[in-house]
Parts: sequence; C-alpha cells; structure tokens
Amino acid sequence: MRKGIGVSPGVAVGTAYCIREIFVNPHTRRLEQRQVLPELTRYDDARRRTAADLRTMYQKISRQVGPEAGAIFLAHETILNDPALSANIRKLIVEQRMSAQAALRQQLDEYSTLFARTKDAYLKERLSDVRDVFVRLSGHLSEVLQATGEALSGPLIVVADELLPSHVMTLGDRDVSGVVTQTGGQTSHAAILARGRGIPAVSGVVGILKQVKTGDVIIVDGREGHVIVDPDPETESAYRKLEREFFLLKDELAENRDLPAVTADGEQIELLANINSTADAAAAVAMGASGVGLYRTEYLFLTHADVPDEEEQLAAYREVIAASPNRHATIRTLDLGGDKTVPYLGIAREANPFLGWRSIRLSFENPEFFATQIRAILRAAATETTSDQTAEKTQVRMMFPMITTLEEIRRVRGMVRRAQKQLEEQGIVYGDVPLGLMLEVPAAAVCIRSLLEVVDFVSIGSNDLIQYLMAADRDNPKVSHLCQPLSPAVLHVLADVIGACNEADKPVSLCGEMAGSPRAFVLLLGMGLSTFSMSPAFVPTIKDLARHVTRAQAQAILKHVLGLKTTAHVMRYMAKQIAEIAPNLKLLDTA
Ligand code: PEP
Ligand code: MG
Repeated sequence: MRKGIGVSPGVAVGTAYCIREIFVNPHTRRLEQRQVLPELTRYDDARRRTAADLRTMYQKISRQVGPEAGAIFLAHETILNDPALSANIRKLIVEQRMSAQAALRQQLDEYSTLFARTKDAYLKERLSDVRDVFVRLSGHLSEVLQATGEALSGPLIVVADELLPSHVMTLGDRDVSGVVTQTGGQTSHAAILARGRGIPAVSGVVGILKQVKTGDVIIVDGREGHVIVDPDPETESAYRKLEREFFLLKDELAENRDLPAVTADGEQIELLANINSTADAAAAVAMGASGVGLYRTEYLFLTHADVPDEEEQLAAYREVIAASPNRHATIRTLDLGGDKTVPYLGIAREANPFLGWRSIRLSFENPEFFATQIRAILRAAATETTSDQTAEKTQVRMMFPMITTLEEIRRVRGMVRRAQKQLEEQGIVYGDVPLGLMLEVPAAAVCIRSLLEVVDFVSIGSNDLIQYLMAADRDNPKVSHLCQPLSPAVLHVLADVIGACNEADKPVSLCGEMAGSPRAFVLLLGMGLSTFSMSPAFVPTIKDLARHVTRAQAQAILKHVLGLKTTAHVMRYMAKQIAEIAPNLKLLDTA
C-alpha cells in the first residue's frame, strides 16, 4: 500500500492506465527488430503534427498578439526542422532500438549538457525553447501511445506524474474511475479535474509510476489517500464492496438534485458550481447546482489548439452560459501563470511563479488580449430574447483573480468602462455585468473594507488564499500539512472577511475547494456565509449536509473551533461533529 494525499473522495477499483511522459519515465525496454520501422513512422508522424501545430500557432499569434509574439514559433520550427535532430533520433531508434520517447529523452539530456557548458545567457535561455519543442513532440507521441489504452476493458485508473488538461482531453469519454498522480496536492489541476468528474483521486504518491504498469489492478481510496497495486483477492473484494457503497451513496444523494438548498431550519442557501467547460456546466445542472460560481476561462485557452479570438471566446462563453444552471454564470478572467502556462504570452520560467507574473498581473501587461476577453464576456452577457416567459433571466457576473491592491481593481473598472464605450461606439450590444474580486491574497484580506467600496461582489479563492497565508505551495506534497483549510490562521481570516462583506452588505461567496468539504462547510456556514461554489460532484453531498444542520448549530460549532489552537484539534473535533450531524456521509468526508 502506498500513501498519498486524498484529493477527491470515494473508492475505485480498476485497471491501471499509465501516462508516461518523456520527462517522467520513458519506456526503456529495447524495441524488437520488427518494431523499429513502425517506431520510425510514429516519430515522423509526431514530427509532422508538431510542425503543423507550430505553423498554426505562428499565424494565429502573429495576427492576434503581434508578429514579435508569433516569432517564437518560427524559432521552434527551426529547432524542429534541424536535420541533425531528426538524424540523431532516428539513429537512436535504429541502432540502439530505443523507443522514440526514450530517444527524445536522451537527445534532450545531451543538449542540456551542451547548453550547461555555455556562459552565454541568451543561449542558455534557448534550452527552454528546445525543451518546449521536445514536450510538444512527446505529446504527439503519447497521443499515439494512448491507442494501447483502447485495448483495455472496464474502468481505467489513470496513473500519471501530473494530470494535464491535454491528458483529460485525450481521455475524452473513456470510462475513467480514478486518478493517481506522483505530484500535486489538494488544489492542483489533477485534483480539480478529478473532483469535477466526481471520481476518487490520490495525489503526491512519489514514484508510483515505477511500481505500476498499464493493465495492473489498482485500488484508489480518495478518503484516506491510499493506493494499492495488485491487491490480494480479499483486499480487492473488500474494496469492491466499498466502491459499490460509494456508487449507491452518490446515486442516493443525486436524487436530491431538485430539492431546494436549505439548512435544517429552512434558511435558504445557494450552492453553485465551479466549472472548467461546457461539459462541467451540464454536470452542474445534473447535480442540482443553482448556477455557476466560478468559470475558469483559462481552460478554454489551455485546451484550445491555438488562441481563441473574440468571436471564438464569445461563442464559448455563450455556450457555457446556455448550459449553466438557470443561465447564471460568474466568469473569471484569465488566470494564467503560476502552474498554468500557454506558449504565447511570453511567460518566462521564474524562480517563484506563484509569487510572480501571474493572473491579473499578466493580464494587465497584455492589455489588448485582456480587453478582448472583457469584450467577449460583456457581449456574452447580453440576454437573448426568449419566448419562454418562465425562463429565469440570464445573469452573468465578471470577476478578476488575484487582486492585491485597490489600484488594481480601479484599473480593472477603467478597462471595463473603456470596453463598454468601444462596444457602444461600434453599435454592439452588451449586458449589464456586476464586477467582483477574487479574494486570494492576504493583503486584500487585510484591506477588505476599503476594497469593498469599489466592487459589486467578492468571491473568496481559498485555494490561493491558504497557500499565500501559510507560505506553503498548494501543489507541493511536502508542505501539504501546512496548506490546510482548517488551520486556525485560515479560519480567523475567513471569519473576518466574511463578516466584513456581510456588514457592508456586499454579496460574498467562497469558490475554493474547501466549499465542498463537509467539515469546512459547517464552519463557513457558522461564519455567516450563504453562497458556496464547488465542484459539481460535491453539490449533492453539501445539500444533504445542509439539511442536517441549522445556522445556530453551525455558529456554536464555529465558536468552539475558533478557540482551538492547532489544525489537528480542529480536524478531530470536526470529524466528530460531521459523524454526529450526518453519519450517512462518512464515505465522502475527507480530511
Ligand atoms: C482559488 O484560488 O481558490 C480558486 C478558486 O481559484 P483557482 O483554484 O483556479 O486558483
Ligand atoms: Mg486562485
């Protein structure tokens, strides 16, 4: 049994499907003679596709961002077309019988050694371009590799170093019942994507790719953070029983989708969904959310073959709004940088990417790009006339990530005003859109009272707020013991911010992952929060839990908890409370 961090609750038993990237653990077995020719064809095919990608990127970025930004893809094309590169790779495949992925790895290692010797900073920087080209090539190779997954039957448990949006796209409609990753923590992409699909996931299982191969039976226990490879028959049967109970519980809870979201004493609360795509919006409807509290638009950019222009964004936003519950959607502007990068905005490798040029900071430096998104959102918010008089009016809100200072939010408002004026001058219709800030930086929490004067609403991004408050990287399993929503420091800050918003009568919600955790939900309810936004899969659980607890009860629990001095004490106390309030939810309660 291997221990990791349980990041999405539930239990799954299935067939392992390993995604091995070039940089993780290339396939090192020597090819048989008969495999050499097909491997060369596979490499050539991946090279052709990479070249086509780069050409499209070059054209689109040059048009939309400018020729200077586009030029990077020409440089990448030159690297790809270097005859020495292909000759070396082909030689390694033919003479050493290496797989194309392993040959790429070896070639990259050689380049790295060469580059390490140079003192020229410009040349050193070029290594990252070479690396990018290799990653792109490798991506196409693993896409072809995925075909081997087709032969596997039954539900798959994906095992990867980290789960990237491109993996999720390639997996498409495959029946994925669990996820295990070597890196990442509670709020990394893999966790968020797995929760979005409502499947159990465990992250931070160091070295698991060395212990498991595609086709092995594997168990994922997302509550405890356990992974078991090749279980004995008794263990497998015990976990299959738990898996059935998990499915039954999910089905049972899903039946409450049409019930109103209320507390035990009948007070209405709002349960919204966090979504990354139209498919998630549909899932949110199926799970009984009453709207979308966070649409992470960067996924549109991360999963798009190139850059979506204004019309493409408009179409995507309209589609998401139409698919959202009650056509209510809070759209967040681009939150790139940190761990999410695209090749075209000039995001360089930084020593501290989460503290650096990310999110709204990056948007400000690309004003045209940012303005295009603002225009697309404003336009998408224009209510289409519908003949159905009973249909609720579309409500779109726009919010901005990682706001740190008052000046930033003023600047944002100025940009929105300019976009509105421009649309008016062009005679293009747009909707009335409340503007909100995401509270995810401690500085903004300290100054919340002055920020409230210039925003229409607040959404607390607790994933980031916690990592910044605790100075503990949200994706680093080594510090996950610090990155804890139930730590006393976090709870005190949240209580203060929620109190300030309520006093100022400004709508406030929380859209970090903790909103979907039973223990945190009760405490947030006690703090006076009434709007919660979470992965759609958690809506039924939280709706059920809410019906078991009154606001006064939650306040009393919070009062006790705010007197506790350590995270461990809070966790223990809350586990006990949840077991008493809603014993039926045991399978879904995670630490
Ligand atoms: C957050 O930080 O809490 C949040 C909801 O945004 P993201 O997870 O996309 O950073
Ligand atoms: Mg965030």
